[in-house]
Amino acid sequence: MLIPEDVRLLLSRLQSAGYTAYAVGGCVRDTLLGAEPKDWDLCTSALPDQMLDLFREERLVTNGLKHGTVTVILHHTPYEITTYRVDGAYSDQRHPDSVSFVDRIDQDLARRDFTINAMACAPDGSILDLFGGREDLAARVIRCVGDPDTRFGEDALRVLRALRFASVLDFQIDPATDAAVRRHYPDLEKVAAERIRVELVKTLCGAGAGRILRAYPEVFTFLLPCLKDSVGYNQDNPHHLYTVWEHSIRALEEVPPDPVLRMTMLLHDCGKPAARTTDESGVGHYKKHQILSARMAHDALENLRFDKAGAERIELLVANHDIPITADRKILLRRLSKFGEENLRSLLLIHRADRIATGTQPREEAERHYLNRTAALDALLAERPCYTLKDLKVNGRDVAALGYRGKEIGETLDRLLRAVIDETLPNDRDALLEAARPENAQHPKQTADHTADTKTPED
Ligand code: ATP
Ligand code: MG
Repeated sequence: MLIPEDVRLLLSRLQSAGYTAYAVGGCVRDTLLGAEPKDWDLCTSALPDQMLDLFREERLVTNGLKHGTVTVILHHTPYEITTYRVDGAYSDQRHPDSVSFVDRIDQDLARRDFTINAMACAPDGSILDLFGGREDLAARVIRCVGDPDTRFGEDALRVLRALRFASVLDFQIDPATDAAVRRHYPDLEKVAAERIRVELVKTLCGAGAGRILRAYPEVFTFLLPCLKDSVGYNQDNPHHLYTVWEHSIRALEEVPPDPVLRMTMLLHDCGKPAARTTDESGVGHYKKHQILSARMAHDALENLRFDKAGAERIELLVANHDIPITADRKILLRRLSKFGEENLRSLLLIHRADRIATGTQPREEAERHYLNRTAALDALLAERPCYTLKDLKVNGRDVAALGYRGKEIGETLDRLLRAVIDETLPNDRDALLEAARPENAQHPKQTADHTADTKTPED
Protein backbone atom coordinates (compact mmCIF):
# COMPACT_ATOMS: atom_id res chain seq x y z
CA MET A 1 0.00 0.00 0.00
CA LEU A 2 1.27 3.48 -0.83
CA ILE A 3 1.89 5.73 2.20
CA PRO A 4 2.36 9.52 1.95
CA GLU A 5 5.90 10.80 2.50
CA ASP A 6 5.25 12.45 5.89
CA VAL A 7 3.54 9.33 7.25
CA ARG A 8 6.46 7.19 6.11
CA LEU A 9 8.83 9.63 7.82
CA LEU A 10 6.96 9.44 11.14
CA LEU A 11 6.77 5.64 11.00
CA SER A 12 10.45 5.24 10.19
CA ARG A 13 11.52 7.62 12.95
CA LEU A 14 9.58 5.53 15.45
CA GLN A 15 11.06 2.38 13.95
CA SER A 16 14.66 3.69 14.04
CA ALA A 17 14.18 4.51 17.71
CA GLY A 18 13.38 0.85 18.38
CA TYR A 19 9.58 0.95 18.44
CA THR A 20 7.05 -0.66 16.14
CA ALA A 21 4.59 1.62 14.35
CA TYR A 22 1.75 1.39 11.82
CA ALA A 23 -0.80 3.50 10.00
CA VAL A 24 -4.15 2.19 11.21
CA GLY A 25 -7.93 2.24 10.88
CA GLY A 26 -9.79 4.51 8.47
CA CYS A 27 -6.75 5.51 6.38
CA VAL A 28 -5.92 1.87 5.60
CA ARG A 29 -9.55 1.06 4.81
CA ASP A 30 -10.00 4.10 2.55
CA THR A 31 -6.71 3.60 0.71
CA LEU A 32 -7.56 -0.05 0.01
CA LEU A 33 -10.93 1.15 -1.30
CA GLY A 34 -9.11 3.50 -3.66
CA ALA A 35 -10.37 6.60 -1.81
CA GLU A 36 -8.36 9.49 -0.42
CA PRO A 37 -8.23 9.15 3.42
CA LYS A 38 -9.45 12.20 5.39
CA ASP A 39 -6.53 11.84 7.77
CA TRP A 40 -3.79 9.39 8.69
CA ASP A 41 -3.84 7.91 12.19
CA LEU A 42 -0.77 6.10 13.44
CA CYS A 43 -0.23 3.70 16.32
CA THR A 44 2.96 2.59 18.01
CA SER A 45 4.55 0.65 20.85
CA ALA A 46 6.19 3.90 22.05
CA LEU A 47 4.65 5.31 25.22
CA PRO A 48 3.38 8.92 25.21
CA ASP A 49 6.48 10.21 27.07
CA GLN A 50 8.74 8.41 24.64
CA MET A 51 6.90 10.04 21.72
CA LEU A 52 7.19 13.47 23.33
CA ASP A 53 10.92 12.92 23.62
CA LEU A 54 11.35 11.53 20.11
CA PHE A 55 9.36 14.34 18.44
CA ARG A 56 10.44 17.18 20.76
CA GLU A 57 11.69 19.23 17.77
CA GLU A 58 8.29 19.12 16.03
CA ARG A 59 5.13 21.10 16.61
CA LEU A 60 3.01 18.97 18.94
CA VAL A 61 -0.53 18.94 20.32
CA THR A 62 -0.73 17.09 23.61
CA ASN A 63 -4.34 17.31 24.79
CA GLY A 64 -4.89 13.61 24.01
CA LEU A 65 -1.99 12.44 26.15
CA LYS A 66 -4.22 10.73 28.72
CA HIS A 67 -5.54 8.40 26.01
CA GLY A 68 -2.05 7.83 24.68
CA THR A 69 -2.26 10.26 21.75
CA VAL A 70 0.43 12.71 20.66
CA THR A 71 -0.40 14.82 17.61
CA VAL A 72 2.58 15.76 15.43
CA ILE A 73 2.10 18.54 12.92
CA LEU A 74 4.08 18.24 9.70
CA HIS A 75 3.54 20.67 6.82
CA HIS A 76 0.42 22.01 8.55
CA THR A 77 -1.13 18.53 8.69
CA PRO A 78 -1.83 16.94 12.08
CA TYR A 79 -0.99 13.26 12.56
CA GLU A 80 -2.39 11.52 15.64
CA ILE A 81 0.00 8.91 16.97
CA THR A 82 -1.46 6.70 19.69
CA THR A 83 0.21 4.12 21.90
CA TYR A 84 -1.21 0.58 21.39
CA ARG A 85 -3.91 0.14 23.95
CA VAL A 86 -6.63 -2.18 25.13
CA ASP A 87 -9.81 -1.01 26.77
CA GLY A 88 -10.75 -2.11 30.27
CA ALA A 89 -14.28 -3.19 31.19
CA TYR A 90 -17.18 -1.05 29.92
CA SER A 91 -19.47 -1.07 32.94
CA ASP A 92 -21.62 1.80 31.62
CA GLN A 93 -21.69 0.87 27.89
CA ARG A 94 -20.32 4.35 27.18
CA HIS A 95 -16.62 4.45 27.83
CA PRO A 96 -14.07 1.98 29.10
CA ASP A 97 -13.46 2.13 32.85
CA SER A 98 -9.77 2.35 32.00
CA VAL A 99 -7.42 2.09 29.07
CA SER A 100 -4.11 0.33 29.38
CA PHE A 101 -1.14 0.69 27.11
CA VAL A 102 0.22 -2.52 25.62
CA ASP A 103 3.20 -3.24 23.41
CA ARG A 104 1.57 -5.40 20.75
CA ILE A 105 -0.37 -4.20 17.70
CA ASP A 106 -2.56 -7.32 17.58
CA GLN A 107 -4.11 -6.43 20.94
CA ASP A 108 -4.80 -2.90 19.71
CA LEU A 109 -6.43 -4.16 16.51
CA ALA A 110 -8.67 -6.57 18.46
CA ARG A 111 -10.33 -3.68 20.38
CA ARG A 112 -11.43 -1.97 17.14
CA ASP A 113 -15.03 -2.08 16.03
CA PHE A 114 -15.26 -3.60 12.53
CA THR A 115 -12.98 -5.84 10.50
CA ILE A 116 -12.59 -3.18 7.80
CA ASN A 117 -11.45 -0.69 10.49
CA ALA A 118 -9.04 -3.11 12.15
CA MET A 119 -6.24 -3.23 9.59
CA ALA A 120 -2.79 -1.70 9.96
CA CYS A 121 -0.12 -0.78 7.42
CA ALA A 122 3.57 -1.22 8.29
CA PRO A 123 6.27 1.30 7.26
CA ASP A 124 7.17 -0.93 4.28
CA GLY A 125 3.58 -0.76 3.00
CA SER A 126 2.62 -4.33 3.96
CA ILE A 127 -0.86 -4.82 5.44
CA LEU A 128 -1.55 -6.47 8.77
CA ASP A 129 -5.06 -7.92 8.51
CA LEU A 130 -5.88 -10.28 11.39
CA PHE A 131 -9.69 -10.37 11.11
CA GLY A 132 -10.44 -10.68 7.41
CA GLY A 133 -10.84 -6.98 6.76
CA ARG A 134 -9.68 -7.17 3.15
CA GLU A 135 -12.11 -9.95 2.39
CA ASP A 136 -14.97 -7.92 3.93
CA LEU A 137 -13.92 -4.84 1.96
CA ALA A 138 -14.06 -6.89 -1.24
CA ALA A 139 -17.45 -8.35 -0.27
CA ARG A 140 -18.60 -4.90 0.92
CA VAL A 141 -19.61 -6.13 4.37
CA ILE A 142 -19.64 -4.53 7.82
CA ARG A 143 -18.75 -7.17 10.42
CA CYS A 144 -17.81 -6.77 14.07
CA VAL A 145 -14.36 -7.83 15.22
CA GLY A 146 -15.20 -10.75 17.51
CA ASP A 147 -18.65 -11.50 18.93
CA PRO A 148 -21.13 -8.73 17.95
CA ASP A 149 -23.18 -8.99 21.16
CA THR A 150 -20.05 -8.61 23.28
CA ARG A 151 -18.76 -5.70 21.21
CA PHE A 152 -22.08 -3.81 21.17
CA GLY A 153 -22.46 -4.61 24.87
CA GLU A 154 -19.11 -2.88 25.54
CA ASP A 155 -19.96 0.27 23.64
CA ALA A 156 -23.46 0.79 22.26
CA LEU A 157 -22.30 3.56 19.92
CA ARG A 158 -20.87 0.78 17.73
CA VAL A 159 -24.48 -0.14 16.84
CA LEU A 160 -24.90 3.23 15.15
CA ARG A 161 -21.37 3.14 13.74
CA ALA A 162 -22.30 -0.10 11.96
CA LEU A 163 -25.20 1.71 10.27
CA ARG A 164 -22.97 4.72 9.57
CA PHE A 165 -20.31 2.74 7.74
CA ALA A 166 -22.97 0.69 5.90
CA SER A 167 -24.51 3.97 4.72
CA VAL A 168 -21.34 5.91 3.91
CA LEU A 169 -19.59 3.03 2.15
CA ASP A 170 -22.87 1.61 0.81
CA PHE A 171 -22.04 -1.80 2.31
CA GLN A 172 -24.24 -4.62 3.62
CA ILE A 173 -24.24 -5.55 7.31
CA ASP A 174 -23.23 -9.14 8.04
CA PRO A 175 -26.23 -11.18 9.34
CA ALA A 176 -24.76 -11.84 12.82
CA THR A 177 -23.83 -8.16 13.22
CA ASP A 178 -27.26 -7.13 11.88
CA ALA A 179 -29.06 -9.37 14.39
CA ALA A 180 -27.00 -7.86 17.21
CA VAL A 181 -27.81 -4.31 15.99
CA ARG A 182 -31.50 -5.15 16.36
CA ARG A 183 -30.96 -6.48 19.88
CA HIS A 184 -28.69 -3.71 21.18
CA TYR A 185 -29.99 -0.43 19.75
CA PRO A 186 -31.95 0.46 22.93
CA ASP A 187 -28.57 0.66 24.71
CA LEU A 188 -27.93 3.80 22.63
CA GLU A 189 -29.93 5.48 25.37
CA LYS A 190 -26.80 5.33 27.53
CA VAL A 191 -24.56 6.97 24.94
CA ALA A 192 -23.79 10.70 25.05
CA ALA A 193 -26.00 12.70 22.65
CA GLU A 194 -22.98 14.37 21.04
CA ARG A 195 -21.46 11.03 20.00
CA ILE A 196 -24.82 9.90 18.61
CA ARG A 197 -25.32 13.11 16.65
CA VAL A 198 -21.96 12.78 14.90
CA GLU A 199 -22.69 9.23 13.72
CA LEU A 200 -26.34 9.98 12.87
CA VAL A 201 -25.43 12.94 10.65
CA LYS A 202 -22.79 10.89 8.84
CA THR A 203 -25.34 8.10 8.36
CA LEU A 204 -27.88 10.50 6.83
CA CYS A 205 -25.25 11.94 4.48
CA GLY A 206 -24.07 8.53 3.24
CA ALA A 207 -24.69 7.12 -0.24
CA GLY A 208 -26.79 4.31 1.25
CA ALA A 209 -28.77 6.50 3.68
CA GLY A 210 -32.19 5.69 2.23
CA ARG A 211 -31.54 1.94 2.26
CA ILE A 212 -30.33 2.02 5.87
CA LEU A 213 -33.25 4.19 7.05
CA ARG A 214 -35.71 1.75 5.42
CA ALA A 215 -33.97 -1.25 6.94
CA TYR A 216 -33.79 0.07 10.53
CA PRO A 217 -36.83 2.28 11.26
CA GLU A 218 -36.81 1.07 14.89
CA VAL A 219 -33.29 2.43 15.41
CA PHE A 220 -33.91 5.84 13.84
CA THR A 221 -37.26 6.38 15.55
CA PHE A 222 -35.57 5.40 18.81
CA LEU A 223 -33.09 8.25 18.23
CA LEU A 224 -35.77 10.59 16.82
CA PRO A 225 -39.03 9.68 18.57
CA CYS A 226 -40.84 12.49 16.71
CA LEU A 227 -40.72 10.19 13.65
CA LYS A 228 -42.41 7.22 15.36
CA ASP A 229 -45.90 7.97 14.04
CA SER A 230 -44.59 8.58 10.50
CA VAL A 231 -43.57 4.96 9.97
CA GLY A 232 -46.35 3.17 8.11
CA TYR A 233 -48.53 6.30 8.20
CA ASN A 234 -50.84 6.28 5.20
CA GLN A 235 -51.55 9.84 4.05
CA ASP A 236 -54.90 9.07 2.36
CA ASN A 237 -54.33 11.96 -0.01
CA PRO A 238 -54.36 11.86 -3.82
CA HIS A 239 -51.17 13.95 -3.97
CA HIS A 240 -49.23 11.41 -1.96
CA LEU A 241 -48.44 7.86 -2.99
CA TYR A 242 -46.27 6.97 0.02
CA THR A 243 -46.43 6.82 3.80
CA VAL A 244 -44.94 9.81 5.62
CA TRP A 245 -41.83 7.75 6.48
CA GLU A 246 -41.24 6.55 2.91
CA HIS A 247 -41.94 10.04 1.53
CA SER A 248 -39.43 11.55 3.97
CA ILE A 249 -36.76 9.02 3.01
CA ARG A 250 -37.33 9.61 -0.69
CA ALA A 251 -37.14 13.37 -0.15
CA LEU A 252 -33.90 12.91 1.82
CA GLU A 253 -32.43 10.88 -1.05
CA GLU A 254 -33.22 13.73 -3.47
CA VAL A 255 -31.25 16.48 -1.67
CA PRO A 256 -27.44 16.81 -1.70
CA PRO A 257 -25.60 15.06 1.19
CA ASP A 258 -25.50 18.12 3.41
CA PRO A 259 -26.31 17.71 7.14
CA VAL A 260 -28.85 20.56 7.27
CA LEU A 261 -30.66 19.53 4.08
CA ARG A 262 -30.72 15.82 4.92
CA MET A 263 -31.97 16.44 8.46
CA THR A 264 -34.59 18.89 7.13
CA MET A 265 -36.01 16.33 4.72
CA LEU A 266 -36.08 13.58 7.33
CA LEU A 267 -38.04 15.80 9.74
CA HIS A 268 -40.06 18.03 7.40
CA ASP A 269 -43.35 16.14 7.67
CA CYS A 270 -43.02 14.60 11.15
CA GLY A 271 -45.93 16.71 12.40
CA LYS A 272 -48.34 15.33 9.77
CA PRO A 273 -49.90 12.51 11.80
CA ALA A 274 -50.72 14.89 14.64
CA ALA A 275 -51.97 17.65 12.30
CA ARG A 276 -54.36 15.45 10.34
CA THR A 277 -57.99 16.11 9.70
CA THR A 278 -60.11 13.85 7.50
CA ASP A 279 -62.89 15.17 5.27
CA GLU A 280 -66.26 13.52 4.45
CA SER A 281 -64.77 11.56 1.58
CA GLY A 282 -61.98 10.17 3.77
CA VAL A 283 -59.20 12.34 2.34
CA GLY A 284 -56.48 13.34 4.83
CA HIS A 285 -55.55 17.02 5.18
CA TYR A 286 -52.54 18.35 7.07
CA LYS A 287 -53.07 22.07 7.60
CA LYS A 288 -50.20 23.84 9.38
CA HIS A 289 -48.33 20.55 9.74
CA GLN A 290 -45.09 22.41 8.87
CA ILE A 291 -45.37 24.53 12.02
CA LEU A 292 -45.92 21.45 14.17
CA SER A 293 -43.07 19.65 12.38
CA ALA A 294 -40.74 22.59 13.09
CA ARG A 295 -41.64 22.51 16.78
CA MET A 296 -41.04 18.78 16.98
CA ALA A 297 -37.78 19.18 15.06
CA HIS A 298 -36.67 21.83 17.53
CA ASP A 299 -37.01 19.43 20.47
CA ALA A 300 -35.39 16.57 18.59
CA LEU A 301 -32.38 18.69 17.58
CA GLU A 302 -32.00 20.03 21.10
CA ASN A 303 -31.95 16.49 22.47
CA LEU A 304 -29.22 15.62 19.99
CA ARG A 305 -27.25 18.73 21.07
CA PHE A 306 -27.27 19.91 17.47
CA ASP A 307 -25.27 23.13 17.01
CA LYS A 308 -27.50 26.16 17.44
CA ALA A 309 -26.96 27.70 14.00
CA GLY A 310 -27.60 24.39 12.24
CA ALA A 311 -30.69 23.66 14.33
CA GLU A 312 -32.12 27.10 13.64
CA ARG A 313 -31.65 26.66 9.91
CA ILE A 314 -33.31 23.25 9.96
CA GLU A 315 -36.27 24.59 11.95
CA LEU A 316 -36.66 27.52 9.56
CA LEU A 317 -36.51 25.26 6.50
CA VAL A 318 -38.98 22.76 8.00
CA ALA A 319 -41.38 25.55 9.00
CA ASN A 320 -41.27 27.03 5.49
CA HIS A 321 -40.90 23.91 3.35
CA ASP A 322 -44.30 24.59 1.78
CA ILE A 323 -43.92 28.33 1.16
CA PRO A 324 -44.68 29.19 -2.48
CA ILE A 325 -41.71 30.42 -4.49
CA THR A 326 -42.41 31.50 -8.03
CA ALA A 327 -40.05 32.94 -10.63
CA ASP A 328 -41.78 36.29 -10.19
CA ARG A 329 -39.32 39.06 -9.40
CA LYS A 330 -41.22 40.56 -6.46
CA ILE A 331 -41.86 37.20 -4.86
CA LEU A 332 -38.19 36.29 -5.18
CA LEU A 333 -37.15 39.62 -3.64
CA ARG A 334 -39.51 39.10 -0.72
CA ARG A 335 -38.24 35.58 -0.18
CA LEU A 336 -34.64 36.78 -0.42
CA SER A 337 -35.38 39.44 2.14
CA LYS A 338 -37.04 36.95 4.50
CA PHE A 339 -34.63 34.00 4.14
CA GLY A 340 -31.37 35.25 2.64
CA GLU A 341 -29.75 33.66 -0.42
CA GLU A 342 -28.45 30.46 1.18
CA ASN A 343 -31.75 29.46 2.75
CA LEU A 344 -33.71 30.42 -0.34
CA ARG A 345 -31.51 28.18 -2.48
CA SER A 346 -32.02 25.43 0.09
CA LEU A 347 -35.79 25.91 -0.10
CA LEU A 348 -35.68 25.49 -3.88
CA LEU A 349 -33.79 22.20 -3.46
CA ILE A 350 -36.30 21.16 -0.80
CA HIS A 351 -39.27 21.90 -3.04
CA ARG A 352 -37.78 19.87 -5.83
CA ALA A 353 -37.13 16.90 -3.51
CA ASP A 354 -40.51 17.17 -1.80
CA ARG A 355 -42.33 17.11 -5.15
CA ILE A 356 -40.42 14.16 -6.54
CA ALA A 357 -40.95 12.23 -3.32
CA THR A 358 -44.75 12.49 -3.50
CA GLY A 359 -44.69 9.75 -6.13
CA THR A 360 -47.49 11.55 -7.98
CA GLN A 361 -45.59 14.31 -9.80
CA PRO A 362 -43.35 13.62 -12.77
CA ARG A 363 -39.70 14.12 -11.93
CA GLU A 364 -39.21 16.21 -15.09
CA GLU A 365 -41.82 18.68 -13.92
CA ALA A 366 -40.17 19.12 -10.51
CA GLU A 367 -36.81 19.47 -12.26
CA ARG A 368 -38.12 22.06 -14.69
CA HIS A 369 -39.76 23.98 -11.87
CA TYR A 370 -36.47 23.97 -9.92
CA LEU A 371 -34.33 25.07 -12.88
CA ASN A 372 -36.76 27.84 -13.76
CA ARG A 373 -36.69 29.27 -10.20
CA THR A 374 -32.95 28.91 -9.88
CA ALA A 375 -32.35 30.67 -13.19
CA ALA A 376 -34.69 33.51 -12.20
CA LEU A 377 -32.90 33.84 -8.85
CA ASP A 378 -29.46 33.85 -10.52
CA ALA A 379 -30.57 36.54 -12.96
CA LEU A 380 -32.06 38.62 -10.17
CA LEU A 381 -28.95 38.37 -7.96
CA ALA A 382 -26.76 39.33 -10.92
CA GLU A 383 -28.49 42.71 -10.84
CA ARG A 384 -27.33 43.16 -7.21
CA PRO A 385 -30.83 44.07 -6.10
CA CYS A 386 -31.66 45.72 -2.80
CA TYR A 387 -33.24 43.21 -0.44
CA THR A 388 -31.69 43.87 3.00
CA LEU A 389 -31.40 46.99 5.18
CA LYS A 390 -27.68 46.94 4.38
CA ASP A 391 -28.47 47.45 0.69
CA LEU A 392 -30.75 50.42 1.33
CA LYS A 393 -29.30 53.79 0.27
CA VAL A 394 -30.27 55.38 3.61
CA ASN A 395 -29.40 54.25 7.12
CA GLY A 396 -30.53 54.77 10.72
CA ARG A 397 -28.61 58.00 11.06
CA ASP A 398 -30.34 59.52 8.02
CA VAL A 399 -33.72 58.57 9.42
CA ALA A 400 -32.87 59.87 12.90
CA ALA A 401 -31.94 63.20 11.28
CA LEU A 402 -35.56 63.46 10.09
CA GLY A 403 -36.71 63.36 13.69
CA TYR A 404 -37.45 59.68 14.28
CA ARG A 405 -36.50 58.20 17.64
CA GLY A 406 -36.08 54.72 19.15
CA LYS A 407 -37.95 51.95 17.43
CA GLU A 408 -39.48 54.35 14.91
CA ILE A 409 -36.10 54.35 13.20
CA GLY A 410 -36.18 50.60 12.53
CA GLU A 411 -39.84 50.71 11.55
CA THR A 412 -39.20 53.48 9.05
CA LEU A 413 -36.25 51.65 7.51
CA ASP A 414 -38.38 48.49 7.26
CA ARG A 415 -41.13 50.46 5.53
CA LEU A 416 -38.67 51.90 3.02
CA LEU A 417 -37.13 48.49 2.33
CA ARG A 418 -40.56 46.99 1.76
CA ALA A 419 -41.41 49.73 -0.71
CA VAL A 420 -38.13 49.23 -2.57
CA ILE A 421 -38.66 45.47 -2.76
CA ASP A 422 -42.19 46.02 -4.06
CA GLU A 423 -40.80 48.56 -6.53
CA THR A 424 -43.07 51.36 -5.37
CA LEU A 425 -39.90 53.33 -4.51
CA PRO A 426 -36.49 53.33 -6.23
CA ASN A 427 -33.45 52.61 -4.06
CA ASP A 428 -32.35 56.19 -4.47
CA ARG A 429 -31.17 58.31 -1.57
CA ASP A 430 -33.21 61.44 -2.32
CA ALA A 431 -36.39 59.52 -3.09
CA LEU A 432 -36.00 57.47 0.10
CA LEU A 433 -35.38 60.55 2.25
CA GLU A 434 -38.39 62.25 0.75
CA ALA A 435 -40.62 59.23 1.36
CA ALA A 436 -39.28 58.88 4.89
CA ARG A 437 -40.29 62.39 5.97
CA PRO A 438 -42.77 62.22 8.85
CA GLU A 439 -45.40 64.08 6.86
CA ASN A 440 -45.21 61.44 4.10
CA ALA A 441 -45.09 58.54 6.54
CA GLN A 442 -48.80 58.87 7.27
CA HIS A 443 -49.66 57.72 3.76
CA PRO A 444 -47.41 54.81 3.00
CA LYS A 445 -48.08 53.28 -0.38
CA GLN A 446 -49.99 50.08 0.16
CA THR A 447 -47.70 47.07 -0.01
CA ALA A 448 -48.17 43.50 1.06
CA ASP A 449 -46.26 42.50 4.16
CA HIS A 450 -43.21 40.79 2.77
CA THR A 451 -42.30 39.33 6.14
CA ALA A 452 -45.60 37.51 6.51
CA ASP A 453 -45.28 33.79 7.13
CA THR A 454 -48.53 33.03 5.45
CA LYS A 455 -49.13 32.81 1.74
CA THR A 456 -49.65 36.20 0.19
CA PRO A 457 -52.41 36.57 -2.41
CA GLU A 458 -50.11 37.02 -5.39
CA ASP A 459 -48.36 33.76 -4.51
P1 ATP B 1 -13.61 8.43 9.29
O1 ATP B 1 -12.92 8.42 7.98
O2 ATP B 1 -15.05 8.68 9.18
O3 ATP B 1 -12.93 9.27 10.34
P2 ATP B 1 -12.53 6.28 10.80
O4 ATP B 1 -12.45 4.80 10.54
O5 ATP B 1 -11.25 7.03 10.89
O6 ATP B 1 -13.51 6.89 9.74
P3 ATP B 1 -13.07 7.21 13.44
O7 ATP B 1 -14.37 7.40 14.12
O8 ATP B 1 -12.21 8.39 13.17
O9 ATP B 1 -13.38 6.41 12.12
O10 ATP B 1 -12.25 6.15 14.33
C1 ATP B 1 -10.90 5.78 14.00
C2 ATP B 1 -10.69 4.29 14.26
O11 ATP B 1 -10.84 4.04 15.66
C3 ATP B 1 -11.72 3.39 13.57
O12 ATP B 1 -11.29 3.04 12.28
C4 ATP B 1 -11.77 2.21 14.49
O13 ATP B 1 -10.68 1.34 14.24
C5 ATP B 1 -11.54 2.81 15.87
N1 ATP B 1 -12.79 3.15 16.60
C6 ATP B 1 -13.41 4.34 16.62
N2 ATP B 1 -14.48 4.32 17.41
C7 ATP B 1 -14.55 3.10 17.92
C8 ATP B 1 -15.44 2.44 18.85
N3 ATP B 1 -16.48 3.09 19.36
N4 ATP B 1 -15.16 1.15 19.16
C9 ATP B 1 -14.10 0.51 18.63
N5 ATP B 1 -13.25 1.06 17.78
C10 ATP B 1 -13.45 2.33 17.42
MG1 MG C 1 -11.06 9.15 11.51
